[in-house]
Amino acid sequence: RTSLGLMFTDAPQPNRGQDRRAEPEPYPSEFANAADTDPALPGNREWARAILARVPDSTLGDDLVERHTVAHPRDLEDQIAGAVAAAPSWGALTGADRAEILVRAAHSLEKHRGELLEVMASECGKTLDQADPEVTEAIDFALHYAELARELDEVDGARFQPVKLTLAVPPWNFPVAIPAGSTLAALAAGSSVIIKPAPQARRCGAIMVKALWEAGVPEDVLRLVNVGEDQLGRQLIADERVDRLILTGAFETAELFRSFRPDLPLFAETSGKNAIIVTPSADLDLAVKDVVYSAFGHAGQKCSAASLVILVGSVATSPRFRRQLLDAVRSLKVAWPSDPTAQMGPIIEPAQGKLLRGLTKLGPDETWLVRPEQLDETGRLWSPGVRDGVQPGSEYHLTEYFGPILGIMTAETLEEAIELQNAVDYGLTAGLHSLDPADIDLWLHKVQAGNAYVNRGITGAIVRRQPFGGWKKSAVGAGAKAGGPNYLVALGDWERAEAAV
Ligand code: GLU
Repeated sequence: RTSLGLMFTDAPQPNRGQDRRAEPEPYPSEFANAADTDPALPGNREWARAILARVPDSTLGDDLVERHTVAHPRDLEDQIAGAVAAAPSWGALTGADRAEILVRAAHSLEKHRGELLEVMASECGKTLDQADPEVTEAIDFALHYAELARELDEVDGARFQPVKLTLAVPPWNFPVAIPAGSTLAALAAGSSVIIKPAPQARRCGAIMVKALWEAGVPEDVLRLVNVGEDQLGRQLIADERVDRLILTGAFETAELFRSFRPDLPLFAETSGKNAIIVTPSADLDLAVKDVVYSAFGHAGQKCSAASLVILVGSVATSPRFRRQLLDAVRSLKVAWPSDPTAQMGPIIEPAQGKLLRGLTKLGPDETWLVRPEQLDETGRLWSPGVRDGVQPGSEYHLTEYFGPILGIMTAETLEEAIELQNAVDYGLTAGLHSLDPADIDLWLHKVQAGNAYVNRGITGAIVRRQPFGGWKKSAVGAGAKAGGPNYLVALGDWERAEAAV
């Protein structure tokens, strides 16, 4: 770790050593994962410090948010009708032509990296080590979907038929990578896009969209529409002209949207309650590091976050793992992101309801290994918590909290641990730490999760290498995975394609 909290990820980093103060090189059209900011360069540390200094008073994106706020049904109608009208000419471009614009979008996102970090820290409380990989991921999405767009020209020998209108409803927890991913996928597939950023992350959405417009995505094809969650939001979601709705959010949100419009063509990645199993043959030092990062990165506010660690056999009965975990969790520096030493930042809103309960109340037989504390009067800055003795079937075992809390469960055998891991309604991410091939084999056959990671943390899926999506209640509607080979094809209009052949 460096003093700036920028962490070395376990992903290979091509192009390390880029100086962020220099004009970035355009990306080549051939895909390679982009690189996070290299904190080894003194110039990059200076660059990062200057960004953080702007964070407390930043108003970046405010003007764009205001300009693209829609408050009247008539204006919303104009946006929808305009997007639909613009679709045919965008969809008539070849995949290769759209790919060219997407590669330019990658370059534009890179040029705006500093602004995107500033706005993520200031609007959503993201620390730099969490925000920087988001920009990288957004760039990866652009380059990967460009690659897939070129392939669309050849799909099955048939002509790929784009839909007209895709609505993107992204969350606030990945306020750049997820809006960028859904928008770029739909654009690559030849559709017009209306993006409605999460109310907590409108400035982030605006700067991301600005970067795409600057790259040549037409403003009538990609529309930034800020509407409330009330009447107008509902009108937008229920509109029959929406051909595809890409949602990342809570399972209940997906259900709610379906209640507005039962035939909604939904591509939704929803909630998770994810566990990492640690067996006696694990590398315990690595396991502790991965559990801590997966549980407390962005204060646990990821669908992919580890909310449980399940200790097996001697790992459960000996004090060693708990002692190391305790030390590691206590040593995390919790601070507002403008503090360059922050390792964990604030939660998005003052803790309330379910999350407040999770931070303050124990279930039967549970004890605090580390008790969370509210660190200032905002109600948003909490130190991380670890509860021991979580019981099978208890509220903590089965509920998603979306905050900086981790629970410890124990099992006598790996089989028993897998049952506990699979007992939840969701199936988004799951982890196993074990160096025994027999354990790994057994686990891979039984685990019920869209993304299963062995000897690695369970957050931070890498575009193209680890396509991301859920299973069970972690997905609603079409199941294609973001950042994977089938996503664009799934966004097309296959009925129309068949009629055209
Ligand atoms: N793609 C993110 C990851 O792999 C998670 C997205 C989410 O929280 O919705 O960590």
